[in-house]
Amino acid sequence: MARMTQEEHYMREAIRLAKKASALKEVPIGCVIVHDGKIIGRGYNRRIIDKNVLAHAEIAAMRKACRVLGDWRLEGCTMYVTLEPCPMCAGAIVQARIPKVVIGCMNPKAGCAGSVLDMFHEDGFNHQVETEVGLMGDVCSQMLKDFFKELREEGKRKKKEEKAREAGGSEESGAGVSGHHDPDDSVHKSENGN
Ligand SMILES: [Zn+2]
Repeated sequence: MARMTQEEHYMREAIRLAKKASALKEVPIGCVIVHDGKIIGRGYNRRIIDKNVLAHAEIAAMRKACRVLGDWRLEGCTMYVTLEPCPMCAGAIVQARIPKVVIGCMNPKAGCAGSVLDMFHEDGFNHQVETEVGLMGDVCSQMLKDFFKELREEGKRKKKEEKAREAGGSEESGAGVSGHHDPDDSVHKSENGN
């Protein structure tokens, strides 16, 4: 039970990092790497803000952990990540020989710890990764759902604003040409909408 609490502590830190990503309007994914009970690497998704396809949470955390250990191998480390790793990160995890990855929730569209592929239990590779799935999984998946819901709503808001602007524009240009009734309609619609 005490170990469980410790694991939750690490995953909670990964979730905290994921929220830093969502504050930047990045998909909320966070990651920590633990060695000898200490967090030696932290990362969160910064793909858009860094304009870099490599700027995934796991890669950032691995980069820092390698610096701390002074080694490209991350043996004896455990990774805690809020979302199942993609092919790039799963590949790097295998390369780094990380023995264990704890995953919050699965990613059916891109995950490579069992969803699309299972790169962590591939006999052909010289390293297998122990996985544990579902630690604080509800929190991790709800965080993603909330993010995408907010993104969709923002998209709708923007579309609505654009439409309102366009309607306003056509009203100006059309006013002197003909007395046609579209602008009035759109005014009524937006009044009802408010
Ligand atoms: Zn990735």
